[in-house]
Amino acid sequence: MTSAVWHPFTQHGLNEPIPLVTHGEGAALFTSDGRRIVDAISSWWVTTHGHRHPRITAAIAAQAETLDQIIFAGYTHPPAEDLAHALVRLTGGELPHVFYSDSGSTAVEVALKMALGYWLNRGEPRHRILTLEHGYHGDTVGTMSVGARGVYNRAYAPLLFDVGTIPFPHGDGQATLDALEAACREKPAALILEPLVLGAGGMLFYPASTLAAMREICATHGVPFIADEVMSGWGRTGTLLACDQAGVTPDILCLSKGLTGGVVPLAATLATGAIYDAHLSRNRADMLFHSSSYTANPIACAAALANIAIWDEEPVGERIALLAARQQARLAALPASTRNRRRLGTIAACDLGPTDDGYLSALAPALLAFFRERDLLLRPLGSTVYVMPPYCIDEDDLDHVYAAIGEAAERFANGL
Ligand SMILES: *Cc1c(COP(=O)(O)O)cnc(C)c1O
Repeated sequence: MTSAVWHPFTQHGLNEPIPLVTHGEGAALFTSDGRRIVDAISSWWVTTHGHRHPRITAAIAAQAETLDQIIFAGYTHPPAEDLAHALVRLTGGELPHVFYSDSGSTAVEVALKMALGYWLNRGEPRHRILTLEHGYHGDTVGTMSVGARGVYNRAYAPLLFDVGTIPFPHGDGQATLDALEAACREKPAALILEPLVLGAGGMLFYPASTLAAMREICATHGVPFIADEVMSGWGRTGTLLACDQAGVTPDILCLSKGLTGGVVPLAATLATGAIYDAHLSRNRADMLFHSSSYTANPIACAAALANIAIWDEEPVGERIALLAARQQARLAALPASTRNRRRLGTIAACDLGPTDDGYLSALAPALLAFFRERDLLLRPLGSTVYVMPPYCIDEDDLDHVYAAIGEAAERFANGL
């Protein structure tokens, strides 16, 4: 029977095979035709501890027995309360207010609405958002507006709101800092960026010192600094948050993906007292007007609490450090035909082929098929191949991943 499913970011007209995955375990996915696929991109950056971590699975089962779902306006429940306290503790206490939603995109939409509400309620409405070049913040209209423009949002481009774009930091980042400084003098409503790593933009890294300097400029000008840690959070860059490496606390922090260990959807947007207090009054018109049906779903909150228990009680930091070292060694051993080999924490990337020709690079589908034939879930961004596995991946699976990348580098060194 043909499928009725319309898949995301998929051109069905190319008739590429779509594996039917029946179960997962650790870093592996198993298909209906008996294949074992290595999940080298954590099922699109979400799975942190591996598929079906027993603690998270058990927490979900237990919560499903007590409270499944409840309206979150005017009602609350223990997992949401406990999780909010845990998130405040984990982020150092400077972001004492936790707003729940259910995806990375909604976490970002909420962050933007918090910043705009902050200015309106202070009686100084501001609307211009600053962003970092090559950024990605989601696929809803608001998050596309603050992200890079390209073929993926060309159909909607006229509807996207205008933003101020700060150049991506190269070298010492001075051009970026100068542009930010100038833009901050124009009284923008906020700066939103991905700290240390621009994911969908091509796994582009920049130094912690530049992140710290950008945060400082925003603080000096009183411009709310929004850190989108939807991907970079939960250990990917080597620390719990990428901001930790720069000693930076944002005014607003977006979390999702690894928040539940990547098992069920949930997001949280954390805010400072100043952002929250701007919405606090006896006037109902000043409240934050946002909700999703599944805001703070109890089962999702229970999964997130289990994830935090894993962070508190299992040697997650050691696993991350080990994975980082293993990635580094294998990256260094790749053939010279790989370009721009780079790594940040558990994320490794390099560029294949002779040139960079963007997201629709003809190399991308060829690489995708090349890796699929070798039972590897790798999904190149244009000609950039990156490895972002669950922290439990073992040496054999990593060897398999890197052997295939090395082979692909040689096979496509001169193009298709
Ligand atoms: C994935 C991602 C998002 C969007 O998250 P969804 O859950 O897919 O909506 C937002 N920001 C960043 C940095 C991301 O990587």
